[in-house]
Amino acid sequence: MSERKTQIVIVGGGAAGLALARKLGNRYGRSRHDIILIDRNRSHIWKPLLHEVASGSLDPNLEDVGYGGHAAIWGYRYFNGSLEKIDRERRTVTTAPLKDEDGAVIVDRHELRYDYLVLAMGGVSNDFGIEGVREHAMFLEDRKQADRFRQVLLNACLQLNAKRRDDPGARLSICIVGGGATGVELSAELVNCARSLRDYGLEVFDHDALKIHLLEAGPRLLPALDEKVARNVRGELEGLGIDVRTDAMVERVESGRLHVKDGGIIDARMILWATGVRGDNSVERMSDLELTKLDLFVTRPTLQTTLDDRIFAIGDCASCHLPGMDRPVPPRAQSAGQMADCVFDNLDRLQKGKEARDFVYRDRGALVSLSRFATVGNINTGPSGGKLALEGRIARAAYMSLYRLHLLAIHGWLRGSVQIVAAKINKVVRPTVKLH
Ligand SMILES: Cc1cc2nc3c(=O)[nH]c(=O)nc-3n(C[C@H](O)[C@H](O)[C@H](O)COP(=O)(O)OP(=O)(O)OC[C@H]3O[C@@H](n4cnc5c(N)ncnc54)[C@H](O)[C@@H]3O)c2cc1C
Repeated sequence: MSERKTQIVIVGGGAAGLALARKLGNRYGRSRHDIILIDRNRSHIWKPLLHEVASGSLDPNLEDVGYGGHAAIWGYRYFNGSLEKIDRERRTVTTAPLKDEDGAVIVDRHELRYDYLVLAMGGVSNDFGIEGVREHAMFLEDRKQADRFRQVLLNACLQLNAKRRDDPGARLSICIVGGGATGVELSAELVNCARSLRDYGLEVFDHDALKIHLLEAGPRLLPALDEKVARNVRGELEGLGIDVRTDAMVERVESGRLHVKDGGIIDARMILWATGVRGDNSVERMSDLELTKLDLFVTRPTLQTTLDDRIFAIGDCASCHLPGMDRPVPPRAQSAGQMADCVFDNLDRLQKGKEARDFVYRDRGALVSLSRFATVGNINTGPSGGKLALEGRIARAAYMSLYRLHLLAIHGWLRGSVQIVAAKINKVVRPTVKLH
């Protein structure tokens, strides 16, 4: 009788899960292991690129990674489905019926066995239960949403272009809620987009055609960065004509309108919500694993979930409070990649009968790109907590290196390096704005 394979199931092929699937597939292959990646989508795009996809400055088709092809190269199995249930006693996961766009079932509810399970399902924006957000705001959580934002933006720009022939003062108002990296970067990308549109046939378009409002409920932008950097960023954005408001708490959202506490009403044709990270609501119904109030899986420092040694949680869907840290590990791309590496080692250790090791988070700093106008931030220079402020070309190179590291993590050194060169060539030969 053939030996039963060790089955490692990863749910979620994002920054954390896809890097882990590649490494596990590459290490163990298919002979004595079955590495399975489950994702509800069929392709992956790195989330920090989504604001560029939304504004049209990046063609997502060039950066998309199809799971099927990736799995074939790296020796794991890809299953298209959405996690619905975890049965810890029977060690199985069940995926919901997979439906086509018309709602017809393509693949029925499906059960998969696991020896080890890694949850890497990412998170969603936190709407804080504010009335009207889910109904009237847009989000930037996956490619579909970024594509939709771009389509709505382009349609509104075309309409405005026609209107401006008779009314040269007409403007398109866009409100972005959330002064973190996503909100700040998208604001700058939109200004860049508006400045390019005249060259693309929207002849009465210029930099003041868009009125961009950026609202932050806290006292300053970019809480993850130094105060001085955040102040400089605010100055840059205001210099680009963006209306930046801090201490601006949105109380209610209606169609085309936001009510701000002590700040009146803002009319906006497009509203983008980009605040905080929480777990998806559906997570509550999936299992009896311990969750935080924000529906994140609580893990021990080893990244194993508190109630089950065989189940790990990594990336944005995990809440890992390490000894000596005031807060849980932040939901960032660098944390996701580092957690994937830690779980890769721990899975090896557990299979060899050794104890899992604690995760060590190395905060390398944070950088923000204001499109082609500026890149700023700080990098951490060592364990003593030293910080180096960066701007200009060096900051741009450091910012780009985070994505390059992701490409190397999911494609390996050889293929990853080719992808990096291909991306550079595309930047030169492709139009700077995607208008379809
Ligand atoms: C617009 C934007 C800009 C950002 N910019 C930065 C930045 O500049 N720097 C930085 O460090 N971080 C940034 N982040 C945060 C960073 O992208 C995340 O921290 C990182 O992607 C988390 O990785 P992850 O693997 O946990 O989740 P994700 O990358 O979100 O991947 C989760 C995967 O799980 C799948 N999935 C979800 N639910 C299910 C389910 N039920 N069943 C099956 N599959 C499921 C999803 O389809 C997805 O593929 C940004 C995020 C956004 C949204």
